[in-house]
Amino acid sequence: MSQTVNAFAALERGGPIRPWTYRQRDARPHDVRIEVLYCGICHTDLHYVGPWGRDYPVVPGHELVGRVTETGPSVTTHAVGDLVAVGPVIDSCRECPPCLAGEETLCLTVATSTYGAPDRHGDGVTRGGYAEQIIGDERFVYRLPDGLDPAAAAPLLCAGSTVFAPLRHWEAGPGRTVGIVGIGGLGHLGVKFARAMGAHVVAFTTSPAKAEDALRLGAHEAVITGDGEMPANRLDLIIDTVPAVHPMTPLVQALATDGTLVSVGLPASFDVAPFALAVGRKSIAGAGAGGTRSTREMLEFSAAHGITADIEVVGTGDINTALKRLEANDVKYRFVIDMKR
Ligand code: NAP
Repeated sequence: MSQTVNAFAALERGGPIRPWTYRQRDARPHDVRIEVLYCGICHTDLHYVGPWGRDYPVVPGHELVGRVTETGPSVTTHAVGDLVAVGPVIDSCRECPPCLAGEETLCLTVATSTYGAPDRHGDGVTRGGYAEQIIGDERFVYRLPDGLDPAAAAPLLCAGSTVFAPLRHWEAGPGRTVGIVGIGGLGHLGVKFARAMGAHVVAFTTSPAKAEDALRLGAHEAVITGDGEMPANRLDLIIDTVPAVHPMTPLVQALATDGTLVSVGLPASFDVAPFALAVGRKSIAGAGAGGTRSTREMLEFSAAHGITADIEVVGTGDINTALKRLEANDVKYRFVIDMKR
């Protein structure tokens, strides 16, 4: 049955987030209905209420934790009352090689984003977690492992997954030196994960006030970019989370021979000298959040290592202020909306 949902949406591009009510699509046999408890505010939400948005109104929110309130007749993996989580992908073709391998975010037909994307079955546009409830196929709904604080775990679903997946893919671990660039929502979790994986961790920040904090988060070294002395030919892997165009040549120069800089921050373009890549046979790669296999592994890893986000919890009346502060780089390190407040 379809239901009317109270949500918070940008009604037009660049507009403020306002209360908005919409008619949800009909539930399908494999759907799980979730009462949203907490939803993180990702920098991507800023992009989507701004330049990237389409199909307004946009209900953002793609890192959420909630409780199952209803399951479709074919659901086998979740039960009413379970604490569950949803990330940035809510559907995919399920037939292509990446989907069959549990790497649905690499779906060859483009995975369906949790919000702001056309529903694969022609049933409107997907709506995210800035809402009292959400529905999604059980495949893309994750059991929250015991022991993780639900509010602080919500950002793991996007911010965490987006740094965990490339850290695993490019084999961060003992004997490897890993740089994390931009100590924000993604970056602070990148520091925690890379440290827990056993790597030597170097944090790169433009904010002098964050340098010491980066050591608390688990970095072995903190470098203030643009100001401090940069390492040279030393890092095996760099995960760059910066959302804006920024000088990447000094970062490439910090890589060891054959090192890789993985950009997950989605800047509008890369500011890098090709010569810096040629010298030392270095690579630039891109990556995004992990698929269902990686996300499940990330959640278990987080529970095993006691990793959650450092958060500032806000009420639903504070969403616009939080978005403004996020834009001004004024959060340590993730806003999470308490949807009951
Ligand atoms: P965030 O919390 O705002 O953190 C970004 C950090 O980058 C800031 O805290 C700041 O760290 C640094 N930074 C910001 N502007 C900068 C500039 N002009 N020059 C240099 N450094 C700058 O954002 P987030 O939520 O972590 O997201 C980061 C980006 O990743 C966003 O563009 C988001 O859309 C994208 N994203 C991509 C995926 C994906 O699938 N690839 C998934 C999620 C998010 P310091 O203060 O330490 O310098």
